[in-house]
Amino acid sequence: MDIHLPISGLNIRPGKVLCIGRNYAAHAAEMQSDIPVAPVIFLKPPTALIGDGGEVLLPPASQEVHHEVELVAVIGKRGKNIPVSDALEHVEGYALGIDMTARDLQAEAKQRGLPWSVAKGFDTFAPLGAFTPARDMADPRRLCISLHVNGALRQQGNVSRMLFGVDELVAYASSIFTLMPGDLIYTGTPEGVAAVEDGDRLVAKGTDLQDLTVGVRRI
Ligand code: MN
Repeated sequence: MDIHLPISGLNIRPGKVLCIGRNYAAHAAEMQSDIPVAPVIFLKPPTALIGDGGEVLLPPASQEVHHEVELVAVIGKRGKNIPVSDALEHVEGYALGIDMTARDLQAEAKQRGLPWSVAKGFDTFAPLGAFTPARDMADPRRLCISLHVNGALRQQGNVSRMLFGVDELVAYASSIFTLMPGDLIYTGTPEGVAAVEDGDRLVAKGTDLQDLTVGVRRI
């Protein structure tokens, strides 16, 4: 892992890693969570990032680490309080990401009213695929994303079903955080999340996006 590497395919270093929870109704339902009235935001440290061909390391602290395939928006332009109508001008492009989640630790944190930083923030818990410029994509509001584990389809969804679109997420996030080039927004996962095991091979795919493949190893 080298967090000083530029985002693959784009000469920008990764900055803040913002993540959106419960952004698809069917995933909120499978987690027995309410539909949010505003985007649910949490952060991962940039040290969680790994690139295509990397390896997710399952930590001894968790016995249940789940995959969450997500569209990732890459910010290319600084902004604060960005209106929804201008928001996509701040998105340089997109990549596939997997929001790895220690579900057992997250469940405990939810129960005790504690933050999710531990459950979401272990090293290697933010696989990130190669960058595709927004101009090279037919319609980023409608693309399909999927995740295969050892060749079997586990998750599939269309980003048109996001409760908050990329433009709304950029606008909302920028009302809290100044967005900078290299900041990443993991935009939430469709349904079908499940545990991974030592030796698994995860392949994320998306319309007009480059595949993201990572291995899994228990440490
Ligand atoms: Mn997620």
